[in-house]
Amino acid sequence: MLKSCGRKLLLSLLGSTFTCLLVLMMDQQKRQVLELGGEGALQSPGDPTGLTQQQPEGEAGEQSPEEVKSFTDYFSKLTRVRREAAGGPAAQGGAGRQRPPLEEISARDVFIAVKTTKKFHRSRLELLLDTWISRNKDMTFIFTDGEDEQLKKRTGNIINTNCSAAHSRQALSCKMAVEYDKFIESGRKWFCHVDDDNYVNVRTLVKLLSGYPHTQDIYIGKPSLDRPIQATERISENKMHPVHFWFATGGAGFCISRGLALKMSPWASGGHFMSTAEKIRLPDDCTIGYIIESVLGVKLIRSNLFHSHLENLHQVPKTEIHNQVTLSYGMFENKRNSIHMKGAFSVEEDPSRFRSIHCLLYPDTPWCPPNVVY
Ligand code: UDP
Ligand code: MN
Repeated sequence: MLKSCGRKLLLSLLGSTFTCLLVLMMDQQKRQVLELGGEGALQSPGDPTGLTQQQPEGEAGEQSPEEVKSFTDYFSKLTRVRREAAGGPAAQGGAGRQRPPLEEISARDVFIAVKTTKKFHRSRLELLLDTWISRNKDMTFIFTDGEDEQLKKRTGNIINTNCSAAHSRQALSCKMAVEYDKFIESGRKWFCHVDDDNYVNVRTLVKLLSGYPHTQDIYIGKPSLDRPIQATERISENKMHPVHFWFATGGAGFCISRGLALKMSPWASGGHFMSTAEKIRLPDDCTIGYIIESVLGVKLIRSNLFHSHLENLHQVPKTEIHNQVTLSYGMFENKRNSIHMKGAFSVEEDPSRFRSIHCLLYPDTPWCPPNVVY
């Protein structure tokens, strides 16, 4: 009798010690989540403005630690925060602490694909060649659809995709497919895509990408929609399946790490990109988002440093122009849309503002007037 009581007492003592230990361990880990999450985990590295967008609540967004409910949620949250702490802004120092960037990369590690078409060689491409491309010829690859001897004399790295010169979904996907294959062939660490109405600030682009490991799954850019796009994926001849995912708009530019690009290969390399695009019947940039978010389950990292003319470019503060990664010009809500700045040239001389922006970033350019007031 006494013996069995003693055994029961011992067992219950062991049981409660084990429970206490478990509770203590969980408490410690939860504290780590809160600490890391508090370092602005959603702010992109190299985003000194802190403008990085946050995902709207409840839509493929990030959960706050308080929202983490189940055990599985809790541990997946922990893993995500750890990953961000390694590759994201926390690694850059977070709250005022300056640690060295995660990866030293140079412009040579980045492959920038510029999508254009023959009819825009003079009206759009010349401006880019005069400005940002002139400083970054080795990293810039121009994807077009027609031969142009005059253009070849100005710069190397011109790829005639032989795709149709139309603005159709198929023609644009055809170009993206060639961009992807050429990037893989190049062996570089980062793939970035821009349109021929984008100005790329290569210094800030390289700084941004340095904050992330190129061997990990990184997809960074800015969505043009405020919710995930809804699409239907064709599974077989008469079977459709609804999908929804975020995508970075091609008009603002986006970047993909080599690690992720390699994983995309079964859906993106060779002729596969075209057939994937056909499966969801959406344009090239949406197809990229579909492969990454829907097929591979990797989330888009949003950065407000990328800009298309689908947003009001007047809202980019003058004092922050030099911190942006891409800029654009064009139309917005039926009005001319461009960066609003005083600068080296008047709006009549430089309607896109790209020449003025270039003089702001590279004042030593021979054609930039000296002593400009900005
Ligand atoms: N584009 C193209 N073929 C065309 C028309 C446009 O390859 O027939 C390219 C163009 O060079 C640009 C991108 O597609 O890089 C987007 O074109 P645009 O800026 O005219 O249209 P948006 O979609 O921005 O309104
Ligand atoms: Mn455009």
